[in-house]
Parts: sequence; structure tokens; C-alpha cells
Amino acid sequence: MKALSFIFRAANSLCIRQVEQRTLFARCGMCGSASSNSKFEPGFGLLFDIDGVLVRGKTPIPAAKKAFQKLVDSNGQFVVPVVFVTNAGNCLRQKKADHLSHILGVPISQDQVMMSHSPLRMFKKYHDKCVLVSGQGPVLDIAKNLGFMNVVSIDMIRESFPLLDMVDHNRRPKLPSSPVVNFPKIEAVILFGEPIRWETNLQLIVDILLTNGNLNNPYESSHSSHLPLLACNMDLMWMAEAQAPRFGHGTFLVCLENIYKKITGKDLKYEALIGKPSELTYHFAEYLIREQAAQMGWRAPIRSLYAIGDNLMTDIYGANLYNRYLVERAARKSAKAVAKVVAGTGTPATVPQEVDTDNAWESELASPTATSCKSILVCTGVFNPLTEVPKDASQCIKETVFHGHRDFHFDPALVEPGHIVPDVNAAVELIFEQEKYEMPV
Ligand SMILES: [Mg+2]
Repeated sequence: MKALSFIFRAANSLCIRQVEQRTLFARCGMCGSASSNSKFEPGFGLLFDIDGVLVRGKTPIPAAKKAFQKLVDSNGQFVVPVVFVTNAGNCLRQKKADHLSHILGVPISQDQVMMSHSPLRMFKKYHDKCVLVSGQGPVLDIAKNLGFMNVVSIDMIRESFPLLDMVDHNRRPKLPSSPVVNFPKIEAVILFGEPIRWETNLQLIVDILLTNGNLNNPYESSHSSHLPLLACNMDLMWMAEAQAPRFGHGTFLVCLENIYKKITGKDLKYEALIGKPSELTYHFAEYLIREQAAQMGWRAPIRSLYAIGDNLMTDIYGANLYNRYLVERAARKSAKAVAKVVAGTGTPATVPQEVDTDNAWESELASPTATSCKSILVCTGVFNPLTEVPKDASQCIKETVFHGHRDFHFDPALVEPGHIVPDVNAAVELIFEQEKYEMPV
């Protein structure tokens, strides 16, 4: 039961790996900034989850400040590239950066922040289409900031079609309304995050899908496909101040998928699922890490990524999935190199089909330099190492209680963390130790 072994390790609090609280890197006594001396150039980058790692709701986790004191020099400059990868999506990056600067006590730039919707800036083919956005917070501003030029909100639909939102009896219109003309045809639906009034959004999104984007049309469920649907943040649950996890956007998606299936008999299909654990999100995060390293003048390629999170199904699954991609990519590259060598000798060589079909995003984001993405699980959030272990180990984690998204397969190897540590400060110490990193002074 290798797949479950970490549960047993973690369930016994005494078994949690205690990272030694000793000084892990010798102070070399040299002066100068991190960017001016190649000795200090990091060959690794850090991806931090936020909720459950750095904060619980609005409350900072004490270990976070200690961890970040290790990551900046005396001028407050980062000594390693750091990106915050959150599945939150209800605000602009700058607001999140300001909040992080405040709680961590170090200046954070918006370029270091990746929200669940950030990779949508890559979906340029939708940027000039009329898109419906669902979520809460400044959704119109967020969409425009990502490059979408023609955006409609759920509230705009409610106002134009008051007869459609009928679940809450108190919101039903008192007077009949006249037919709506000139409302734009919706061409795609983008789900940023959980809305405030789920029933309204569920109703209106299903309406849009079943009318092919024109709410004056009757329902038409016989089509083999529906409008393009792009969803961010698949987290079933997340951890705030409450003792137990709270519903996340993944729970909203479960509702939407099941309602659509019940009404049409067909599966809801996504054009894209982004946010952790999707591979695209890690591609984008690595791209930001490389950009940051370049801006700092660090020329050493970033070979290792470390992803620190509190959620097995999101942070650990995502990091391990990306690691698997990096390993397979390296194998493909080496197969290609071997094939070229063989071809060069005049021997006919058959290159496997996938060799020449590198991920489409690589052309947009440039090829990754990382060869590994290691997952580190902290015990300050969703994951609770003190949870009692059931007598029947098979009840711990199995497909029937898989909290990942419908379209992501359960794979025990993907939810096994590389390391389990008490908190984010221990995670940073562990990484410095593994990288034998000497911090500049
Ligand atoms: Mg989290």
C-alpha cells in the first residue's frame, strides 16, 4: 500500500518529519547583492500556495513571516525566484500582492502573483469574443485585465432578463417585463470562481449553454456540443478560519455538471480547466519563475521547482503531475536525440509520434528549463495529520472519495507528497538544505 503509506506517516504526529531547527546555510561573509555574484545564483524556484500555507482566511500563519525572512536579503530583495500560485480568483493580482506584502513583511510584486485565472491571458482566441464571466469580486475588471474586450456579467443578464432568475421568490419581478432586444450573443462562458448566489449563476449559465448564447432562443439540448466553457479553480474545498474545510469552486462545478447532465443527458465539456492542478498552470508558473530570474540577472538555468501547499488534490497532485510531464518531456527529448544520431549514421530511424508534438504552450511560453517539480505538503491547512486513521486502510483515499475534478483521474502516485513538513518555514529550510544553498549576506 505504497500509495497510502504517507497517510500513516502523517496521521501519527510523532511521525511527521521534523526538520532540524539548526542553521542550514553557512554565512559566507561576502558582501553584494544576490544578483551580482554567480555563487549565489539559485538553480531553483519556489511556488507557494497561499491559503492554508501563508494564511488561514485573513489570519497570517506565524511560520510564513519567518520563512520569508530567509528568502530576502538585507535590502528586502528576493534571493531566489518566488511565485505565489493560488487558486483564488476573486481579485486583481495587485491587490493580492499588496495583501501578501503586508502579512509577510517583504515587498511582493504583482508579477510574482499567479491567480487561478492568470493563464487565461494565453487564450487569445477568446479575447475579442463576447464572454460571460461568473464569479465574485471585480469580475469585469479581472476579465479586462486578462485581455478580454467584450465581457458580460451575470448581473447584466439578470437586469436585462429579469424573468430568468426565479429561484429566490423574493427576487421574482412583480411586473411583467418587455422582450429584450440588442443583448449581445454570448460566445463563451468563463467561470472564475464560486459566485455569491449559486442558484442564480447555475440557472443563468445553464440557460446560456442551452440557448447557444442567445437567451431569446428556446432551449435546444439536441446539439452535440455547447458553447466553449473555460473554468478556473477546481478546488472542491478550501481552508479558512473555520475548523472544517469550506465549499470551493470545485463544488460549484459539481453542481453545474450534474444539473447539465440531468437536463440534457450529456456530459458538460470544458474547453479548458485551469488553476492547480492543471499542467498549464504550472507551465505558466515556471514561465514567471524564469522571467523573474532573468530580471534579477541570474543566468543559471532554473532546474528544480519546489511547490509548497496544503492540499493533496490540488498542490501535491498538480506538482507531481507537472513533474511527470517534465520527466516524460526529458525522455522524449533524449529519444529524439538518439533517433537523430541513428539517422545520422544512415540507419533508418523511427521517431515516436509524440516526439515532435511538444506541448503547444511551449511555443508561447518558451521551453521549460526545469527537470523536476517537487511537492512539499504542510500541515497548517486542509491536510490534517492528526486525522484518525480508519481501521480499513482502503477507506483512506480511494477513487470513491477522490476530491479532485471529474476530468482528472485518480492516481495514488500523484497524491503522494515528496515531503511532509509541519509548516512553510520548515519547508524553506528543507529546500535550502536539499539545494545546499548558501544565502548571500
Ligand atoms: Mg491551500
